[in-house]
Amino acid sequence: MVNFDEQANCLNCGAKLTTRFCGECGQEKVRRITFKELFKTAQRAILEFESPFLKTFITMTTSPGRVCRDYIEGKRASYFNPIKYAFWSLTFFFFLTALTEQSVGELATSSFLGSPTPETQRFGEVLSQIMESSMWYLIFIYTAVFALLLRVFFRKEGIKFTEFYVLAILPSAHVTWFTSILVATSWLDAKIITSASVYISVLFSIYAYTTFFDKNKVKVFLKSCAVMFLGLFIVGFIGAMHTYIQIGYEDAVEQHKLEQAKGEKQVETNNL
Ligand SMILES: [Zn+2]
Repeated sequence: MVNFDEQANCLNCGAKLTTRFCGECGQEKVRRITFKELFKTAQRAILEFESPFLKTFITMTTSPGRVCRDYIEGKRASYFNPIKYAFWSLTFFFFLTALTEQSVGELATSSFLGSPTPETQRFGEVLSQIMESSMWYLIFIYTAVFALLLRVFFRKEGIKFTEFYVLAILPSAHVTWFTSILVATSWLDAKIITSASVYISVLFSIYAYTTFFDKNKVKVFLKSCAVMFLGLFIVGFIGAMHTYIQIGYEDAVEQHKLEQAKGEKQVETNNL
């Protein structure tokens, strides 16, 4: 059996130990597995999830710009990973909407549905279907548009596109937590909550962008607004194109089916 009392070398990778933690792989000096060890591990598993998560959640609420700045500048272990944060907030949202038997697509496109003209009604329905099936990855793709615009408008800051992605995704992910909770409690119409959360997300993102840069506030604020509205325009444009292509495709399929049916009927009558 291994002698756990004298650990000159790391038991995981074999590198020489000079401190409590291995400099190569990061493993802490280990002890034999006991009940106490198992209990401590379980306790740590919860804390290591909870504590960065809670810190990110609380600090994002009060100073979102600072969380993004800290994370990009390397202060990371005390925060939750931004992509994970967005991933879990969406998972939570989808889980709660499924639990309360609501359609994500309908919630997201509620302003289009119930429109007066059949064209906008159809547009809303198709957009809703697209959202329902691909909101998962569309959000991550559309976030890149905002990161790219931040890169263009704040190009002198020396911050990369991929670093700006953190600033682009964290504020809207943060608002999603609140949206989910409100949708779940359902003391307001879910469609109202979802529409309101879009506006809050826009304002909160502008706030995060502005506080991210510790500079001439008016100029930064105006540029942040420009990034947000240009981003919404581009995303809206791509979304509309996507929807129109889908409608065109569905119509073409429908047309094709009709013609096929007609052709078959023609053959039948000729045979008679
Ligand atoms: Zn090691």
